[in-house]
Amino acid sequence: MKAGIVGLPNVGKSTLFNCLSNAKAQSANFPFCTIEPNIGVVNVPDPRLEKLESLVNPERVIPATVEIVDIAGLVKGASKGEGLGNQFLANIRETDAILHVLRCFDNDNIVHVDGSIDPIRDKETIDMELQLKDLETAEKKLDKVKRAAKTGNKEAQKEEAVLLKIKEGLESGSSIRALDFSEDDYNDYVKPLQFITDKPVMYVCNVDEGAAVSGNAYVEQVKETVKGENAEVLVLAVGTEADINELDDYDERQMFLEDIGLEEPGSSKLIRGAYKLLNQQTYFTAGVKEVRAWTVDIGATAPQAAGVIHTDFEKGFIRAEVISYDDYVSYGSEAKVKEAGKMRVEGKNYVVKDGDVMHFLFNV
Ligand code: GDP
Repeated sequence: MKAGIVGLPNVGKSTLFNCLSNAKAQSANFPFCTIEPNIGVVNVPDPRLEKLESLVNPERVIPATVEIVDIAGLVKGASKGEGLGNQFLANIRETDAILHVLRCFDNDNIVHVDGSIDPIRDKETIDMELQLKDLETAEKKLDKVKRAAKTGNKEAQKEEAVLLKIKEGLESGSSIRALDFSEDDYNDYVKPLQFITDKPVMYVCNVDEGAAVSGNAYVEQVKETVKGENAEVLVLAVGTEADINELDDYDERQMFLEDIGLEEPGSSKLIRGAYKLLNQQTYFTAGVKEVRAWTVDIGATAPQAAGVIHTDFEKGFIRAEVISYDDYVSYGSEAKVKEAGKMRVEGKNYVVKDGDVMHFLFNV
């Protein structure tokens, strides 16, 4: 599962990507500076992991990770192959969620490709390219389905109706995620086509230092515009955070953050947001050798969770011993949790909860 960073050139995408991954992708005041998609495997900040570490004293601690891809800049006309358009669109199709960066800061020294600061116009520019690409996908499919529908095939007629609704929506400027479908229609006809504008999205408003906490007028415009979209909005002073990241000393970084009114880097919030956007949650294993955060889909069962560690664990799954994170912390150790009778034994239908501390029993 991976999230892709998109946005117009010069809005702060590669600065953000560097901030997240510390990989030094080049960042310059020049459109198209990020040509190949850069992929970063980013640790998911999780204070629970530090707490478990302090209780268990393991040899090592391994956090959960999320994959972030920095996708080359998009310009008007990309859906027709302009700029790096087609490559951009192919890369974005491969992602599972979208982090859409919007420039919400003024700075005359940093060129805007369209000449002025207007995050709503920028958002629409990007959306339109993505919608046009999806329209192409829908129309291609519609051509095929139409023939079958004409012969009286009921299934094809249903699909045709759904595709027409998609076509209409896209043509009127809606993204597919904003359209309503029945669950069956969605699963049968929409989901398999992997539309770009159906992917979950988070809008990242890139602001100046002074607006890191309270936002600014641009941010308010963005919030107002995306109200009906079922999307997250995050305010982040990307440039400032990049500067703070340059500091080697942890305490110094912390002091800087507090100065601008933040308890933790906004990028930590963003990473956790991306993780959630990807429908991911964490369970823990806690042993003296290793305390580790593992990633599973929200809704995963105990055997599926075991399968994340090893496929054999899933195949031979017998049962799981489960302690909720809160119980683990309030009793202080596995032994004490057991004593108190708070350790649960769960079978193959158990649905994993975020923060479960798990131990699997399995046949080999
Ligand atoms: P990209 O083309 O979207 O990847 O944009 P970059 O990350 O390369 O950023 C373009 C320019 O804007 C660089 O010179 C950055 O240093 C600068 N920049 C990025 N974020 C901010 C910000 O929050 N405030 C200010 N003032 N400059 C920023």
